[in-house]
Amino acid sequence: MLRAALESRAVTELIPSHLSSPVPHPDRTYRCQNCGCSPAAEMTFRGHRGLILAMQFLKEKGTYCRSCGLAIFRTMTSRTLVQGWWGWASFLITPFILLYNLFARRKLNNLTEPAPALDGSSGTPWSPGKPLHQRVTIVGLLIPLAVVGAIGYAIATGGAENKVGQCVVASADGTDVDFVDCSEPNQGVVTKVVDSESQCPADTIGVVEETYTSRRGRLTNTDIYCLGPDPS
Ligand SMILES: [Zn+2]
Repeated sequence: MLRAALESRAVTELIPSHLSSPVPHPDRTYRCQNCGCSPAAEMTFRGHRGLILAMQFLKEKGTYCRSCGLAIFRTMTSRTLVQGWWGWASFLITPFILLYNLFARRKLNNLTEPAPALDGSSGTPWSPGKPLHQRVTIVGLLIPLAVVGAIGYAIATGGAENKVGQCVVASADGTDVDFVDCSEPNQGVVTKVVDSESQCPADTIGVVEETYTSRRGRLTNTDIYCLGPDPS
């Protein structure tokens, strides 16, 4: 045993110390303001919270080591992914906040793993936690996609108001109607789109109700089309 220990010590001594040490010379110019480890650099991460009518701009500026900086980046970005979108202005601001953080995060790549201070005065760095793509909050990215998709869908299908002037024909089984050009045989022309049947004009011969339900089944919207006699 003693002999083995001596041999291993001899092998270690053959390797120059600056190659065997995992962090040869950590840059000790700056210390992390949270844990005191080095290397550290000054960095800024931002967050955003939309509050429908108001909004909050969040900012975290300081000198941090790689671990603490990564923890701040992930926390601020993760919260923004969920809280950022709620308001017209916030909806537009949030993508820029997310991009800002992605760029600011590159600063962390220049920092090696935090090394404790030589005099033992440093603490434990914050744990960076799970990467963003492994957090539940990443689904926040679907919020702008869903909104843009819904707007695109409304434009593509031409909102309810655009049905005015179109004519309707009952489908073969009578449970649904199709909107057609009024030059085709039809059962009536859409004269108005209203929220309640009582709002239809006096000469209305019938109504068609169209109900939209979002995929998750939470939002339901009903349009009522007032029908006038076949114009042809
Ligand atoms: Zn730190």
